[in-house]
Amino acid sequence: MNQNRREVLKAAAAAGGWASGLGSGLASGLASGLGIAALTGCATSSAPASTRVLVVGGGYGGATAAKYVRWLSDYKIEVVLVEPGDAFVSCPISNLVLGGSRTMSDITLPYAGLATTHGVTVVKDMVASIDSAKKVAVLASGPSIGYDKLVLSPGIEMMWGSVSGLQEANANGRVLQAWKAGPETAALRKQLEAMPDGGVYAIVIPEAPYRCPPGPYERACQVASYFKAAKPRSKVLILDANPDVTSKGALFKKVWAEVYPGMVEYRGQHKATAVAAGANIVKFEVQDDVKADVLNVLPPMRAGAIAVRSGLANMNARWCGVNYQTFESSLAKDVHVIGDSIQVAPAMPKSAHMANSHAKVAAAAIVAELNGWAVNPAPMLTNTCYSFVDAKSVIHVASVHEYVAAEKTFKTVAGSGGLSAGPTELEANYAWNWARTIWADTLA
Ligand SMILES: Cc1cc2nc3c(=O)[nH]c(=O)nc-3n(C[C@H](O)[C@H](O)[C@H](O)COP(=O)(O)OP(=O)(O)OC[C@H]3O[C@@H](n4cnc5c(N)ncnc54)[C@H](O)[C@@H]3O)c2cc1C
Repeated sequence: MNQNRREVLKAAAAAGGWASGLGSGLASGLASGLGIAALTGCATSSAPASTRVLVVGGGYGGATAAKYVRWLSDYKIEVVLVEPGDAFVSCPISNLVLGGSRTMSDITLPYAGLATTHGVTVVKDMVASIDSAKKVAVLASGPSIGYDKLVLSPGIEMMWGSVSGLQEANANGRVLQAWKAGPETAALRKQLEAMPDGGVYAIVIPEAPYRCPPGPYERACQVASYFKAAKPRSKVLILDANPDVTSKGALFKKVWAEVYPGMVEYRGQHKATAVAAGANIVKFEVQDDVKADVLNVLPPMRAGAIAVRSGLANMNARWCGVNYQTFESSLAKDVHVIGDSIQVAPAMPKSAHMANSHAKVAAAAIVAELNGWAVNPAPMLTNTCYSFVDAKSVIHVASVHEYVAAEKTFKTVAGSGGLSAGPTELEANYAWNWARTIWADTLA
């Protein structure tokens, strides 16, 4: 063992005693990660060598934050990322797997770059609890990890209780959500393949805010695109709790009317209350029951379970309030919540692009605070959401958000952003470049 490696392991053990608890595999991952810091040799960060940032969740927010804390601290601050998944599976582009033009392997990427290129210690586990007073998180497998700053990006949790019978229907695989890309995405595609020509696919959308405002409408297009090619007598029903399409409404409606005439039907004001999975029926607060061959019911959503369980979801018991300048929780010091779990500022969507933007602002604030530097008083966020309306054509909506110190919130910059005039193949090129770029920015 060389000098650097020995010192690193000593520092890790001293920093919180978790390295011994987690076993030698992790300890050597930690050592190689910090080895990169030792090799940079040009660090300007003055954070103490044992400073640790713990990131909970390796999705769009967490993985980006992990990389950027390392990078912005000149690889000096130790970063441990806890994520249960073997690989990163992207929700953006996952609707194309349902449409049949892409496969799961197209949206699955390794975490390896975070460790090998950026020296992040990636731990395959779940965080079971967080004690923000003691600055310790406990892993589902038992060991504890101490931290100086914690980044919480656990995504969303389904509010199963809002739609009676839905959790059981999900557990037995009859009614899927596929709102976290992974095995359910592949299983929902199988349900569509097994559906007879002339059958009905129904997607049920909860009231906003929910993860990815245009996502359900893009999905309806993708399923219709598959039906048009393979099962042309079939139907796509969109049953929306909102009074109208919540994102890119005029564009989506034009596509449904012109590209999928007679195939896609949109019904607003349909708030689901129950499913009778055995009979393939969904029930609504006011409207008549609907029967469909494939039911894709999205219930209302809230912050990821660990955020709720830790008492951080202080906005309507659903979302986590944060100081938007730093993304520090409004309840827990040194806990920074980012991504879909937060209470959003006006016109801020729950999107991958936004989670990536939150992560960079939070990472910069964390590195500044740990070094005793001033935090950026005027952070900016950007967002672009592309939607594939078939295998080859895309529409987008974009916005720029600035932190307004006087109001302590983000607001969209007047005149920024925009909306497509209509679907084009050129925008599909942009969408693919966006996906490749954000995957690299997050993971490579
Ligand atoms: C079908 C679909 C299409 C979409 N398309 C787009 C798009 O085109 N563009 C766009 O910008 N956005 C899109 N989105 C939205 C985007 O995927 C989310 O907004 C984004 O993933 C949010 O990032 P996050 O980090 O908050 O959550 P996630 O990316 O879901 O990451 C959360 C991670 O936390 C982990 N985790 C949870 N609990 C724990 C715990 N206790 N311990 C450790 N780890 C934990 C999970 O395993 C997960 O990997 C789409 C979403 C869907 C469903």
